[in-house]
Amino acid sequence: RAKDDGRNTLRFFVPEMQASLAQRMDMERQLRGALEANEGLELYLQPQYTEQNVICGAELLLRWENNGKFVPPDVFIPVAEDSGLIYQLGDWVIESACHIGARLQDDLVDREFSLAINVSPRQFRQKNFSEKVLEAIENHHLPRGLIELELTEGLLIEDVDDTVSKMLALRESGVRFSIDDFGTGYSSLRYLKSLPLDKLKVDQSFVRDVLTDSGDASIVRAIVSMARTLELEVIAEGVETEPVRDFLISADCMRFQGYLYSRPLPLNEFRKLLNNDRDRITA
Ligand code: C2E
Ligand code: MG
Ligand code: MG
Ligand code: MG
Repeated sequence: RAKDDGRNTLRFFVPEMQASLAQRMDMERQLRGALEANEGLELYLQPQYTEQNVICGAELLLRWENNGKFVPPDVFIPVAEDSGLIYQLGDWVIESACHIGARLQDDLVDREFSLAINVSPRQFRQKNFSEKVLEAIENHHLPRGLIELELTEGLLIEDVDDTVSKMLALRESGVRFSIDDFGTGYSSLRYLKSLPLDKLKVDQSFVRDVLTDSGDASIVRAIVSMARTLELEVIAEGVETEPVRDFLISADCMRFQGYLYSRPLPLNEFRKLLNNDRDRITA
């Protein structure tokens, strides 16, 4: 994926996205520096759309500009996870996300909207994770239901008791939960049913070839119908073309995110999009 996005400008970065140990240590040091100086890190927003082409949410995606180059999160997040830097980075993300949520409030009046934060496993396993999130939400006076946390299947099945108790504490205060990259892990139906979830995000690897790969098409249909049965919302990631969107609608998936609509955008650009969207709705 790193190659697709014109990110191969990163010279020390090998194609398989496996940096060497020295490279990883170097990256860790620079990422720590970026966090300490609060420099070069920014959350971008990628809009999510309804079948009526109305914006209904955004996913926050971390961007790190290091020495004039963007390092892909698929590269630096694992480094942060392995080194423990993810705690500090995760705190930064939660705080920035809530700050963005507060700044968007005026643009969100009378609108269904969720702001999704990616949470990595080690970050979630912190003892005081729920408290940290709730404190940030409270400090920024965010409305119930605005913040959504994206968890992965692996995280969900790892330590189910801890997972459930954290999710319940957060949900009590209106935090919503989605499963990211759904279909790539192996969570059983039993877990899905017993967890306080709101949404499944169909992984883009199934969405991409849905028109040419009948297996992928079947998987997408199955995920959507499973979501309906479990009374979960469902959104497709990586929607790049109209025909794919049309297939998804025919499969009863009515929420979309992907380059067909927009790339992830800095806050100000996202805001413009949101306001044009409003003009269009109310026109
Ligand atoms: P993800 O959460 O599954 O995010 C979706 C990725 O797909 C993003 O890549 C997004 O830019 C990309 N994408 C969106 N639409 C399309 C499309 O139509 N086609 C294609 N080919 N790609 C599309 P990104 O921003 O590089 O992030 C990669 C991964 O890094 C994320 O996958 C997530 O797992 C992780 N990540 C990003 N930000 C954060 C963060 O703040 N915290 C944590 N823990 N992880 C993050
Ligand atoms: Mg995500
Ligand atoms: Mg995803
Ligand atoms: Mg992913």
